[in-house]
Amino acid sequence: MQKSNMVKSTDTDPHINAFAVMSAGQRLEPYQYVPKEVGPLEVEVRISHCGMCHTDIHLINDDFGLTTFPLVPGHEIVGVVSQTGSAVQHLQAGQRVGIGPLGGACFLCEQCTTGRENICSQAQYVPIGREGGYATHIRVDSRVAFPIPDALPSEFAAPLLCAGITVFAPLQRHVNGATRLGVIGIGGLGHLALQYGRAMGCHVTAFSTSLDKAEEAKEFGADEFVATKEQGALAARASTCDFLLSTVTADLPWADYLNILKPEGTLCVVGIPNSDISLPVIPLIFGQKTLIGSIIGSGSETKSMLEFSARHQVRPKIELFPMHEANTALERLSKNQVRYRVVLVNEA
Ligand code: NAP
Repeated sequence: MQKSNMVKSTDTDPHINAFAVMSAGQRLEPYQYVPKEVGPLEVEVRISHCGMCHTDIHLINDDFGLTTFPLVPGHEIVGVVSQTGSAVQHLQAGQRVGIGPLGGACFLCEQCTTGRENICSQAQYVPIGREGGYATHIRVDSRVAFPIPDALPSEFAAPLLCAGITVFAPLQRHVNGATRLGVIGIGGLGHLALQYGRAMGCHVTAFSTSLDKAEEAKEFGADEFVATKEQGALAARASTCDFLLSTVTADLPWADYLNILKPEGTLCVVGIPNSDISLPVIPLIFGQKTLIGSIIGSGSETKSMLEFSARHQVRPKIELFPMHEANTALERLSKNQVRYRVVLVNEA
């Protein structure tokens, strides 16, 4: 990838420099676009850091059939407010904020008015139908830009805006200090789930295909580590977990994981596997077990997650890359080589 000048020449320069994929499965290349005017409720943010989520790979490959090209990926964004719309009162120019995948909602429906905008039927997502954070700047609805607590450095805050909230929200809703929690897949989301699980007082078990993650998984918060590729490893864990959180990007032996749940246990899926999930009905019924999904988190959950992360020192373990080396980082992520989140940095 050519290195491009990733800085707008002046704050009045209308072009935003970015990196985009022009069609499905292609590499990123330098790309410029002229954004829409900053609307009354919008802000422009000068991006300093953007985390790299596995969803970026799903979108680049158009796995969901939702991607609009050219695609400027990136939805774990931290930066400084550079412009505010005329009606914005709660954010000021110069303030450090974070933006996750939630790009907007109707803010009027039953879900929005009860603090659950992430499940609004009109919810919009960064970067579907709009440019994302592999760029110098972004313009977004100010209601989805969240002030970052001073205790969280920007490079550690960025992954929290998606990976962090996606695992924090279901854990906050469903677990407590007596929960035996299992986290399946110790990648970007999973290594944060181990930390939140420990901070929430759970007994935490990590389920991983990567033996070399065992030691770090324990440092993140796992009391136990299960090497899932070992013969009989899953069967040996029958009826040991109250709550299983799957962050995995592939199809799993779901019946084996259902068997790992104790009666009335819950399997929560946040990772997006290749295929739909099929489960045997008899153990589901006789064990009164539950299968649930969860999508990122609401605005109030995001604020709560940022405060919780700052207070409990939940920090992603990161690999920093300059923005112009995003293709190299994407390759590492697609090969499960990242330990544990890439954060792209805009050089000043
Ligand atoms: P990631 O960093 O690549 O981590 C995924 C982990 O899954 C890997 O580190 C690996 O962990 C495990 N894994 C990979 N291939 C596997 C296989 N063939 N069999 C079993 N395990 C495998 O990805 P991420 O950024 O954490 O994202 C994870 C998933 O969550 C993605 O599908 C993403 O789109 C989705 N997501 C969902 C939401 C939501 O709101 N629901 C939000 C963000 C992301 P081990 O090495 O430990 O096995």
